[in-house]
Formats: sequence, structure tokens, C-alpha cells
Amino acid sequence: MSGWLRVVGLGPAGAEWVTPEVTDALASAEHILGYHTYLRRVSPPAGATLHGSDNGDELARARHALELALGGARVVVVSGGDAGVFGMAAAVFEAIEHGRPSFRELDVRVLPAVTAMLAAAARLGAPLGHDFCALNLSDNLKPWATIERRLALAAQADFVLALYNPASKARSEQAQLAFALLRQHRAPSAIVAFASAVGRADEELYITTLGEADPARADMRTLILVGSSNTRRIERPGAPPWIYTLRGTRQA
Ligand code: SAH
Repeated sequence: MSGWLRVVGLGPAGAEWVTPEVTDALASAEHILGYHTYLRRVSPPAGATLHGSDNGDELARARHALELALGGARVVVVSGGDAGVFGMAAAVFEAIEHGRPSFRELDVRVLPAVTAMLAAAARLGAPLGHDFCALNLSDNLKPWATIERRLALAAQADFVLALYNPASKARSEQAQLAFALLRQHRAPSAIVAFASAVGRADEELYITTLGEADPARADMRTLILVGSSNTRRIERPGAPPWIYTLRGTRQA
């Protein structure tokens, strides 16, 4: 069986954040599958077929990729950021678990990449320097009650929070609801950063506090970081502040 499947992340922005391993996989691909928006970021090798599909078709896309690889083709499935973080990798394994037994014999590999949370943190300083928790605020695949419960418990546990998918064209209320909930469990002085389109030409970084934050600032290009009680702000003359989280917790 000569076909293979690579599940790759393109990073949160441009080519400088795509790993050489991912670039190599794309260069030898015969079929490249992914959400239209991500496929636009790929320069396919001559002769490769691109299969763009809509967001929401993840399982069908994963099955299609597995069938192509089973037929002997070199296949790459792309995600934005890292494929394993709220991306295509889990959909591929779900398709393998519930699909044909022969899927399990395929040469399938997930290639790691830079996730949005790490790019945003690097721009801001070192806010993920101690324990943190990543949550996806989209209720497309889970009930809002689950999101509320996880947010409340993570806020109480004093994790730094990385909030993915805070809003989309179809959803604007969730960031409002999430902030209302966070305000019940965290001090108004807690540091909040909105990092939008990190690494792209329209990048915006905005650092504020939980008390002052306007959730409407978040859109689908935004990663929100909410500091813990150990997240600090360093003012700089003529430049935006840095934020970082102490490497150890002080006595509560
Ligand atoms: N697999 C991706 C996440 C997909 S969910 C990853 O590992 O990054 C999509 C969400 O990721 C967006 O709603 C936003 O919250 C975040 N995101 C993706 N790219 C981003 C960027 N360049 N800047 C800020 N946030 C980004």
C-alpha cells in the first residue's frame, strides 16, 4: 500500500509559521483537502488536485481523504493553526474509528504546527508561562451549558484561559455571555487580551481588564486570553505593555 495521509496545520498566518515538515508534505501531495479559506493559503505542486469544502463538512472530508489514501494516493488534509487543536485531526480519527477496518492499516500521520494560542501569547509576552486552559466557545458541536460549566470551573481554578472561536458571523452573543460569567469568578482587575489576526497584515492586539473589556471586540479572527491572578502587566514607554504569568503561584 503506497498511499499515505498527512494531517497538517498551516499555522495561524503566513508561510513563516508553516513548518518545513508540513511544506514537504504539501510538496509531495497528489490530493489536498480542506476548508476553502485554508486551501487558499496553499501553493499546491503541479498536478495536485485541491478539494475545497465548507466548514462543517469535517467528517465527510476526513472520509474522502481516507478513501483517496486507501486508493494509493498521497493525501494531505489541512487545518488552520495546528490540526490537532480544534482542527481536522480529531475528525480523521473519528472517521477511522467508525470507518472501514482497512483505514487502520493506512500510513496516517499528524504533523504538528503553531496553534493560535501560542502565536498570540508570543506577541503579548508570556501569558501562558504557567498553568492554562484552552476552551472553544463555539456551540456548534457541544451544548452551551457545557461551555458555561467549563468556563466557570476553569475561571474558579485560576487558570489562564485561552478562548478560541469567541464569535462568528452567526454568533455574537456568546462572547457577551462568557464575559458575564467570567466576571462572576474573576476580579475586575484580571488582565484580558484580544489578539486578532495574529501574524497577518490586519493583526490587532488589545490589552485591557476584565472589568473594562468589551466582548464585542472579538470576532472570528480573535483569540481571547484571560489572565490568572498571577498574570502581570509591564508598562513600556511608547509601546504596548507586555503581559506575562509568573512561573510559580504565590500563596493564595
Ligand atoms: N486549529 C486552529 C484553531 C481553529 S478554531 C489553531 O490551532 O489555531 C478557529 C479560531 O482560532 C478562531 O476563531 C480564533 O479564535 C483562533 N485563531 C485562528 N487563527 C488566528 C489568528 N491568526 N489570530 C488570532 N486567533 C486566531
